[in-house]
Amino acid sequence: MGFAYDDQNIFAKILRGEIPNDTVYESVHALAFRDITPQAPTHVLVIPKGPYVSMDHFTQEASDAEIAGFMRAIGEVCKLEGVSDDGFRAISNAGVNGVQEVPHLHVHILGGRPLGRMLARET
Ligand code: 5GP
Repeated sequence: MGFAYDDQNIFAKILRGEIPNDTVYESVHALAFRDITPQAPTHVLVIPKGPYVSMDHFTQEASDAEIAGFMRAIGEVCKLEGVSDDGFRAISNAGVNGVQEVPHLHVHILGGRPLGRMLARET
């Protein structure tokens, strides 16, 4: 089964400049911008510029340069946001079980407050 990318997703529109964003960092391979509904004082979304749905899609099909560029962008965002000393969380949701809302790979960088445990136990 292949990965099907929908180029009408909201982050594709942001990449094409059709929807505004609050950019934190941009490079050849990545764009980082503030989440529209921040869940912590720092809540930045880092996305690759290529058409990848999810982390598994990206790491199976992207070039080494795209992968390096994307991971470096995460490092730059952490530096720019000043979250390295106190810590942060990097989250990438995928698919139905991961409750992914936007089908373009993104890593959430959350910080600026204690974030609690990683997962809430389902009751
Ligand atoms: P997911 O649930 O797919 O991991 O996260 C999608 C994230 O995208 C959510 O945190 C949501 O607030 C954010 N988001 C959705 N639409 C927009 C938008 O138009 N602009 C920005 N900056 N963030 C968005």
